[in-house]
Amino acid sequence: MTIVNHLINGELIAGTGRTADVFNPSIGAVSKQVALADRATLQLAIDSAKAAFPAWRNTPPAKRAQIMFRFKQLLEQHEATIAKLISEEHGKTIEDAVGELKRGIENVEFACAAPEILKGEYSRNVGPNIDAWSDMQPLGVVAGITPFNFPAMVPLWMYPLAIVCGNCFILKPSERDPSSTLYIAQLLIEAGLPKGVLSVVHGDKEAVDGLIESPDVKALSFVGSTPIAEYIYSEGTKRGKRVQALGGAKNHAVLMPDADLDNAVSALMGAAYGSCGERCMAISVVVCVGDQIADALVEKLTPQIKALKIGAGTQCGLDMGPLVTAAARDKVKGYIDAGVAQGARLVVDGRDLVVAGHEDGYFVGGTLFDKVTPEMTIYTDEIFGPVLCIVRVGSLEAAMQLINDHEYGNGTCIFTRDGEAARLFCDEIEVGMVGVNVPLPVPVSYHSFGGWKRSLFGDLHAYGPDGVRFYTRKKAITQRWPQRASHEAAQFAFPSNG
Ligand code: NAD
Repeated sequence: MTIVNHLINGELIAGTGRTADVFNPSIGAVSKQVALADRATLQLAIDSAKAAFPAWRNTPPAKRAQIMFRFKQLLEQHEATIAKLISEEHGKTIEDAVGELKRGIENVEFACAAPEILKGEYSRNVGPNIDAWSDMQPLGVVAGITPFNFPAMVPLWMYPLAIVCGNCFILKPSERDPSSTLYIAQLLIEAGLPKGVLSVVHGDKEAVDGLIESPDVKALSFVGSTPIAEYIYSEGTKRGKRVQALGGAKNHAVLMPDADLDNAVSALMGAAYGSCGERCMAISVVVCVGDQIADALVEKLTPQIKALKIGAGTQCGLDMGPLVTAAARDKVKGYIDAGVAQGARLVVDGRDLVVAGHEDGYFVGGTLFDKVTPEMTIYTDEIFGPVLCIVRVGSLEAAMQLINDHEYGNGTCIFTRDGEAARLFCDEIEVGMVGVNVPLPVPVSYHSFGGWKRSLFGDLHAYGPDGVRFYTRKKAITQRWPQRASHEAAQFAFPSNG
C-alpha cells in the first residue's frame, strides 16, 4: 500500500514507526497510509530548517519572490492532479477542489510582492545627523498545523508568506488527507526553494507537541477545531512563542423580510451544502426575521435540497460529495438524531441517503431543520456537515443578539435590501468576517482572515497584512553619522528636538 512520506530537507523520508490509514470517503475504504512522525523525525526537520535559516534570511526578497512566481506557475500547471488528490481523500467535488486551490494560489500571488511588503519605513533627520528606519526581520523557524477541510488552501495561507518574509517553515498537515498538501510542497521545492526552508512532517499529537515544546520553533500558526486551537495557543504562548490559532465556527445568516429571496436561497444552498458543510465559513444557521419569510424560505429550500446531486467527489458536475470519514458521518447523523429528539422540525432528512455504486461511502444527504431554538445542540455546536438550521426571531435586534451570544464569531452575513439594517449589522455584530448579501465572506489574500470570540486565539489574523506582521518582528534602528569637524558634548537630559 502507498505510504505518504515526510518531506524533510528537500527529500522524501520514510517514517520510522507509526502510520495512520487514509481513506477514500466515496467508497469507504483505506486507500493509503500516512507516516506519523516521532520526535526524532521531527527533529530532523527542525535541524534542517535551522541550518537553512542564515542563508535564507539573507537571500534578497526579490529572489525569494522569483521562486514564488515559479511556484504559482507550477500550481496552475498541475491544477487537475492536485484537485484529484484533494477530492480522492477529502471527498469534496473536483470543482470545489479547484476553487480551493485557486484561492490558495492568490496567497502565493500576494507573497510574490515580498520586496514591496518588506520595505519598512524610513525617516531622515529625526535629530541632528540622525536617520531612523524600521526593519522587518524574520523570526527563524516557524511552524503551521493545518486541518483536513482545506488541504491545499490553508497551508497556502501560511508558508508562502512566512517563507518570503525570510523564515524557514515546518508544516504539519492533517493526517486525514495529506497527499495534495505534500504534492504542493514538492512543487515549491521544484520551483527552486533551497533545502530545509520548507519541510512537511506528517503526524498527530506527538508531532504537534514536539513543535510546541521545541525552543527552536519561534511561532505557530494553527487552523482547526476550537479545543485544539485553545490548547496550542495556551501551550505555545506559555513557552514564549508567537501563536495564531484559528478555531471552529457556527456561522449565521440573517434573512430580512425585504431580502431578494431567490438570490438568498441560491446563496444559502452553496454556503450550507457546498463541501458537504465541511467549511469553517459554511452557513449552518439562518435566522429568519419574521414567520412569513421563514415559511417562504422553507418552501423554496426544500425542493432544492432534495434535488442536490450527490456522489463521488471525483465525478464532475456534482453538488456534494461524502463526508471525510466514517466518524464524521456518524457524528453528523448523531446531531440529526439529537435535533429530532430535542424537538426541532426535521424538514429534509439526509440520514438514509445511499449513493448507488458507492454504498459504503460516507454520505449524508442535505438536511434542513426548522423551528430550531438556541438551547438545542444542533444550534450550539459546530456540526461540520450538510445540516442547515432555521431559527425564527421577531426583529433584527433579536437576530443580532442571538449571534452575539454565540460562543463562535467566525463569519456571518445578512440578506437585505435595507442599507440602514446592513450598516447597523456590520457595525455591531460580534463576528470577525461579515457579508452583506455575500454568504461566504472569506477575505481575499490582500486582506486578512480571522474570527472573533472562540473562533480565534491570538492577536493577528491569518495571511495578508496581518500575516506579514505575524511572520516578522520589527526592529527600529536609529543611526547617527556625526560630521567630522563637529564635537558634541555629553548630554544628560533626555534627547529631544525641543
Ligand atoms: P482538528 O482540530 O481535529 O485538527 C487540526 C489539526 O490539529 C490537524 O493537523 C490534527 O492533526 C491536529 N490535532 C488534532 N488533534 C490534536 C491534539 N489532540 N493535539 C494536537 N494536535 C491535534 O480539526 P479538523 O477536524 O482537521 O478540521 C475541522 C475544524 O477546523 C473545524 O472545527 C473547522 O471549523 C476548523 N477550521 C477553522 C478554520 C478557520 O479559519 N477558523 C478553517 C478551516 C477549518
